[in-house]
Amino acid sequence: MDFFDTAEGWGRDQLEQTQLVRLKSTVAHARKCNFYRERLDAAGIGPEGIQSLDDLRRIPFTTKQDLRDQYPTGMLCVPTSEIVRMHCSSGTTGSPVAICHTQNDINAWADLMARCMYMVGVRRDDVFQNMSGYGLFTGGLGIHYGAERLGCLTIPAGAGNSRRQIKLAKDFRTSVAHILPSYALILGEHLRKMGEDPRDFPLRIALVGAEPYTEEFRQRIESLFAMKAYNSYGLSEMNGPGVAFECLAQDGLHIWEDAYIAEIVDPETGQPVPDGTVGELVMTCLCRQGMPILRYRTRDLTRFLPGQCACGRHHRRMDRIVGRADDMFIVKGVNIYPMQIEQVIMTFAEVGQSYLILLENDGIGDLMRVQVEIRDEFFVEDMRVLQGLQKAIAQRLRDEILITPKVELVQSNSLERSEGKAVRVRDLRAKK
Ligand code: ADP
Ligand code: ZN
Repeated sequence: MDFFDTAEGWGRDQLEQTQLVRLKSTVAHARKCNFYRERLDAAGIGPEGIQSLDDLRRIPFTTKQDLRDQYPTGMLCVPTSEIVRMHCSSGTTGSPVAICHTQNDINAWADLMARCMYMVGVRRDDVFQNMSGYGLFTGGLGIHYGAERLGCLTIPAGAGNSRRQIKLAKDFRTSVAHILPSYALILGEHLRKMGEDPRDFPLRIALVGAEPYTEEFRQRIESLFAMKAYNSYGLSEMNGPGVAFECLAQDGLHIWEDAYIAEIVDPETGQPVPDGTVGELVMTCLCRQGMPILRYRTRDLTRFLPGQCACGRHHRRMDRIVGRADDMFIVKGVNIYPMQIEQVIMTFAEVGQSYLILLENDGIGDLMRVQVEIRDEFFVEDMRVLQGLQKAIAQRLRDEILITPKVELVQSNSLERSEGKAVRVRDLRAKK
């Protein structure tokens, strides 16, 4: 097989031996900041405290709150003069955290990102257009450096501005793009409005990630543009993109285990769940000098996929993210994730690019409304046809989530768009 680097092709033994060596040195290095030294001492883990990979479990978790408490530089493990860049998480779930990188950290990250892209067939002849926001968001520079590392002509287009995206892609024959799932459908719609068939657009591959989306959503993106869309997972706390990525088999995301150790735990107890069971992903970085992070509770829910991947790589795979623990909402006592809604509505051909879940309280109980954009060609249908569709969607949703939401069909482009990650739920219930 054609690998970007040797570690990509390592077998289990080699991966685990390397993980142990790197875990030992990471834990010893992490002691250079007060935060980890105190935490590790309290857990009885001295400088030589790691003897086997199982010892990882003795290390206390690191949470987002810890990172907020240590903001901005409390967790630095090198002198500030060694730091060349910082990034922040998008702040989707609260105040942001800052992650600082040395030059080596940046280089290692670019290599991992290049490995992801190479794995799905991106080569130096490709023209790469990064359609995600730059600035503090890691999906900008993080992916940018990976593409340059591969030798692609790299266009830092940034987020939004579909007209300019389309012009750049046509003028430079962009063959690969990094794009948020919610924006991919919006861009396709823009092309259609211009009287063009998105299938004629030069793209052949898209790296799609940064927010949860369903398999149904991926299929839409792929067929809309007649291209392949590969799931890209990462988080700022673990650098950003380049943590886990789908291979050509599109059957789960390979977690780069030479650079990270992944665990999946029960969010309540913190104990590991059996393989195949959904739990919270916990990540440890093994190659970071600036700000090593141990056993980070990502709040992202997924499961390990059992067995080996058809592609032959030995890095373990995780399933697509079901959602964030923080995304879950409760209506009439039922726990619901936005992706359960998306999975249902995206199977309807009439449904357009966007949807919004509204949670309200009418004084008697909770109400859930799902606003669904309908493609223009269907919106002109007979009232009865639309009512039938509305009913069909509501029924399928009830089968999935066990309560019947009110479904509202709205015109395409009528729901608010965000430049960054899509907002799928608006909770308007009065907080008690
Ligand atoms: P924030 O947590 O503020 O959004 P980041 O910009 O670091 O900060 O985003 C990382 C988060 O984005 C992940 O923890 C995860 O919830 C989400 N995410 C990233 N990639 C994917 C993906 N491919 N599928 C689902 N969710 C993703
Ligand atoms: Zn694979």
